[in-house]
Amino acid sequence: MIKVNEDYLKLPGSYLFSTIAKKVNAYSQANPDKKIIRLGIGDVTQPLCPAVIDALHKAVDEMAVKETFMGYAPDLGYEFLRSTIAKNDYTQRGCEIYADEVFVSDGAKSDSGNIQEIFAKDVKIAVCDPVYPVYVDTNVMAGRTGTYDAATGLWSNVIYMPCTAANGFSPELPKEVPDLIYLCFPNNPTGATITKTELQKWVDYANQNKAVIIYDAAYEAYISEDDVPHSIYECEGARNCAIEIRSFSKNAGFTGTRLGFTVIPKDIKDENGVMLHSLWARRHGTKFNGAPYIIQRAGEAVYSEAGKAQTMEQIAYYMNNAKYIYEGLKSAGYTVSGGVNAPYIWLKTPDNMTSWEFFDKLLETVNVVGTPGSGFGPSGEGYFRLTAFGTYENTVEAIDRIKKM
Ligand SMILES: *Cc1c(COP(=O)(O)O)cnc(C)c1O
Repeated sequence: MIKVNEDYLKLPGSYLFSTIAKKVNAYSQANPDKKIIRLGIGDVTQPLCPAVIDALHKAVDEMAVKETFMGYAPDLGYEFLRSTIAKNDYTQRGCEIYADEVFVSDGAKSDSGNIQEIFAKDVKIAVCDPVYPVYVDTNVMAGRTGTYDAATGLWSNVIYMPCTAANGFSPELPKEVPDLIYLCFPNNPTGATITKTELQKWVDYANQNKAVIIYDAAYEAYISEDDVPHSIYECEGARNCAIEIRSFSKNAGFTGTRLGFTVIPKDIKDENGVMLHSLWARRHGTKFNGAPYIIQRAGEAVYSEAGKAQTMEQIAYYMNNAKYIYEGLKSAGYTVSGGVNAPYIWLKTPDNMTSWEFFDKLLETVNVVGTPGSGFGPSGEGYFRLTAFGTYENTVEAIDRIKKM
């Protein structure tokens, strides 16, 4: 008889967003005349910008001609894109990162989920609480997290770093030293950021303790404040301890077209001198056949002058929504944070409601969908996430409905 990977069976319940979708579908089937506004899932709504569309068309046409047709892409990414990324995202920001340290992929979700594969089964991970669910769940699937305590929502073999109002939603250095530290700034779900000085402390801590930081910078493009680092490689010593993951989804609307990348500097080595870079390259070679040529050309266009200007305009559009949500809720008496360097607003539920109670109330009384903070971890209980990715009209309508609630 076939046996499944029992580590998968340890995962509690279903993936957060499937649970939300089920609840929303049930409500809308029972109430077909209600207009539901979704400010829940972190998905963009603005179409791809003209510079990207032009690049897509051009690449499609190349595929129709024998001389320019492209088959399998190089599994680490085309040189034209790797060098464009290295130059624009790193060299021009004063970071020492080379094109051959950039691994192009189909997105940050798969990279942030798969990266744990190159580490030993007994490495100890540390995560923020609340946190993007992919980091812990993929370590559960890999059998690394110990046992789950349904009462607390915590895994026995994971170090949790609470991000609460008391610490401004920015974690403190853990007392028990982890091997692998997941950080995400600007943060999903809280919208919090970290200053360069604070991030430098993490890099120093990792180097002192021979730990590795996985830095998820999917929201880098939303940074508006000067002292917030765009890359962990702005910190001294990060080449020795940090892996950075990025995505084209949130900065350029590639959630449906799929493109991301991971940077692994060649200086990061394990205790025997093995380069993490080599292992990730080996993994890509075996399990990934390259992001599509057409999409990599579209990604390259994001860095063109027109592409930069157009994607910046889209980000400004979303951040204008963020401002409306933030200020609207604040004026209605809610305690809110985030929304300045990230498209997420993190609010305290009123009247000590649980996150799910507030979810149900919003859905049923004003037909607005958000994300319960507790779905991101126990410290998210009593909080709620709204995203700025809707249309401006829907965002205004949703907030105005909440204000009248
Ligand atoms: C949206 C998101 C991603 C996923 O990005 P894709 O490139 O679309 O897979 C990764 N990390 C965080 C924190 C995100 O919010």
